[in-house]
Amino acid sequence: MSEPILWIIVPCYNEEAVLPITAPLFLQKLSGLIAEKKVAEESRILFVNDGSKDKTWEIIRELARGDEHFLGIAQSRNRGHQNALLAGLMEAKDRCEITITIDCDGQDDMNAMDAMVEEYKKGCDIVYGVRSSRKSDSFFKRSTARSFYRLMSKMGVEMVYDHADYRLVSAKVLQHFADFREVNIFLRGMFPLVGFKSGCVYYERHERMAGESHYPLKKMIAFAIEGITSLSVKPLTLIVVFGLITCLLGFIGIIWAIVEVLLGNAVTGWASTVCIILFLGGVQLLSIGVIGQYVGKIYLETKQRPRYIISERTWTDAD
Ligand code: UDP
Ligand code: MG
Repeated sequence: MSEPILWIIVPCYNEEAVLPITAPLFLQKLSGLIAEKKVAEESRILFVNDGSKDKTWEIIRELARGDEHFLGIAQSRNRGHQNALLAGLMEAKDRCEITITIDCDGQDDMNAMDAMVEEYKKGCDIVYGVRSSRKSDSFFKRSTARSFYRLMSKMGVEMVYDHADYRLVSAKVLQHFADFREVNIFLRGMFPLVGFKSGCVYYERHERMAGESHYPLKKMIAFAIEGITSLSVKPLTLIVVFGLITCLLGFIGIIWAIVEVLLGNAVTGWASTVCIILFLGGVQLLSIGVIGQYVGKIYLETKQRPRYIISERTWTDAD
């Protein structure tokens, strides 16, 4: 069997500080894999510029000129990490046998790629990179990330624990994945839905080599909400359950009030009445808000807008 062609897909947004450091490391890794006959010589590293406002795209073009293993595509504007990954994956799916997606900041251990390719050769079509430890993350980032995974699984999103977007996916899976046409994408929750045999590879997550994280707490929360409402309708069921419980409590309250009146105890509790009204008002607003999230998603899905637009490539079709 000839060696598989691997495309390493690297999303980059405002990464001029770190790209010159990590790009040679990616090339070194790929050259190693090629030399050890684990992947084919035609393998490539594809940078996806996600509408960066700094010199990232210039750097990518420079890299592509310097070595044929480097390729780049540019999104027409910033669309976020997930869409950048999707653009790269769809670009790669007809040109290779396997893809590995990895962040460009050097946080994910590149050496895990060997084991990923090995797992692929053993028959896995999806290999999840799973963090074995988060020693380099702050206590805060660690605990928020943990709550993130817990919340997601409670809300019915099937996800591999402590797996982010460092993952090997075969072109075969990508062909089927291309039929998932939703606009709201949350890749790590979607790939388990595609099926096929999967495996895990454990690696240590390092600190960013340079530059700053684009995912502070606020964005993490937005990402969690995005993931849940894109992949699960469990919150809607919870609203029904919550509504039933409040109805039941209200019913008990009414019986209690009637009994009090029959017993001749005048009801004086203004404060408690107001509290209950406020509480119920809050529950209703929250519930409508959750439903609104889903209605908004349906609105966006019905528009069927393109999920990414590639404005430039470092190669032409003639190449
Ligand atoms: N990224 C992107 N588009 C964005 C934000 C981030 O393509 O709008 C890329 C970024 O360049 C990096 C990866 O997504 O390669 C992960 O981002 P980051 O390292 O900032 O997140 P963290 O590792 O802190 O969660
Ligand atoms: Mg990072």
